[in-house]
Amino acid sequence: MVSRSPLTSADKRKHGEAMSIFEQWGVEPIINVSGSVTRLGGAPMPKAVLDAFCAAAGESVPLDVLQGAASRVIAEATGAEAGIVTCGAAAGLMLGTAAILAGFNLGRMEALPHTEDFPHEFVAAREHRNGYDHALRAAGARFVEVGFQEIVAGAGVRRVEAWEYEAAFGPMTAGVMYVYDAHAAPPLAELVKVAHAHRLPVLVDAAGELPPRSNLKDILATGADLVVFSGGKAIRGPQSTGILCGRRVLIASALLQMLDMDDHFDLWEPPENLIDRKTLVGIPRHGIGRPLKVAKEQIAALLTALRLFASGEYDRDLTEMSRHCNDIAKALQSIQPCPVAVREIPSDGQSYPLLEVTLNSSVVKRSAFDICRALRRGKPSVQVGHLKLAQGTFVINPLHLNGERTAVLIRRLREELGGTQ
Ligand SMILES: *Cc1c(COP(=O)(O)O)cnc(C)c1O
Repeated sequence: MVSRSPLTSADKRKHGEAMSIFEQWGVEPIINVSGSVTRLGGAPMPKAVLDAFCAAAGESVPLDVLQGAASRVIAEATGAEAGIVTCGAAAGLMLGTAAILAGFNLGRMEALPHTEDFPHEFVAAREHRNGYDHALRAAGARFVEVGFQEIVAGAGVRRVEAWEYEAAFGPMTAGVMYVYDAHAAPPLAELVKVAHAHRLPVLVDAAGELPPRSNLKDILATGADLVVFSGGKAIRGPQSTGILCGRRVLIASALLQMLDMDDHFDLWEPPENLIDRKTLVGIPRHGIGRPLKVAKEQIAALLTALRLFASGEYDRDLTEMSRHCNDIAKALQSIQPCPVAVREIPSDGQSYPLLEVTLNSSVVKRSAFDICRALRRGKPSVQVGHLKLAQGTFVINPLHLNGERTAVLIRRLREELGGTQ
C-alpha cells in the first residue's frame, strides 16, 4: 500500500519531516476510511502499478497499437473477445453506447449525440436507473423505462421482469442497459436471451462489482455484449481508468470513436486484432469519445493492476486490514462509558473487512452527522463511510490504512467520542 504520513503539515514542519506533495498548493491530505470512493481519489495504487505508470511515461507508442495489446490482456482476464482501457467506467458506458448507436457507420459516428434518425432507445428498468446513466444519455441514447419501484414505494412485492423489456422493444430500440448486482432482477442471463432473440445488444454497468474476482468472467459468460468495470476501485489502477470489454465489433467501434484520428487513411494501420480496416470506407473524424482520451501511462498502469487483481495478489493485504479494524474496535470499546457499539464484518476472502461503529445515544449526545462533520473538519481531516449515517452508524473501510494512519484515526475518534476525558 502507498505509505504517506498522515500527520498534518504543521506537525510535519515541527518534526522537520518531508511535506506532502499537496502541501505546496495548500491542500492537506486526509485519512480516507471510506474506501475507493471517487470523491476522495479512488484506491491506493500498489508500487508495481506506480512503477508501470512512470516507466510508460518515458517512451512513445502509438495508442491504437497499445490498445490492441490491452485488448489481449483484458480478453485473457475476462474471457471477452476484446476490450479497451477507458478513462473510467462511466466513460466505458458512454463509449459502449456510442458503439451500439453507430456501429461502423461513419455518418452516425459524426452525428452523435444527435440520433433522431436512427435507433437510439435503450430499454432499462426503473430500478436500474441511476446517476451514472447520464453517460448513455450524453452519447445520444434515450431511455425507455420498464417495471416499477413497487418495493421501494411499499406498494407491491415484485421486481422488474424480462417480459416487460420485450414488450417495450420497437423499431427505434438500439439496446438494453443493465446495472449488475448479485441480487439484480431479472437475472442477466435471462434478459440477454430475450434481447438476443430480438438481435439487441445488452450493455452492463458492473463498475463496482469487483470483488468477487469471478465476476471478471461470470458477467460476460451470461452472453452480455458489453461490460464495464471501474479501474480505480478494487483493481487499484489509476483513478481515471476503466475497462470496456465484450464483442469485438462493438469494442472496435468504441475505440474508433475514442482515438485521436488525425492520420491519413493511406498510412493508418489500426491493430488487426481489433479493427478490420477493410470494413471501413474511410477514416472517421474525432468521435464523441475523443474528450475521453486515455494516456499510455494509464493503460500500462491499469494492465499491471488488472494482472495483480486477477491473480489474487491483493488478498495478501486482507490480514493486515483486519488487524487495523480490530485495533480500532478495541480502542473504541475500551472507552468508559462506551460511546459506541462496534461490529466487525470480516472479509469473505476477497472483500475488504469493514468496521461498523454505531453511536450509543445514551452516552453520545451528538448525531452521527455531527461527528462525521467534526471528523471531516478536524486535523488531519478524516472521512468515514457515510452510507448508514441516518441510522447512527459510520462505516470504516481499512483500504487506505497503515499503522501510522490507524493510530492517528484512533486518536481522532477518541477525541470526538469522549475517550480523552
Ligand atoms: C463507480 C461507478 C461508476 C463510475 O465508475 P468510474 O470508474 O468512476 O467512472 C459507474 N457505475 C457504478 C454503478 C459505479 O459504482
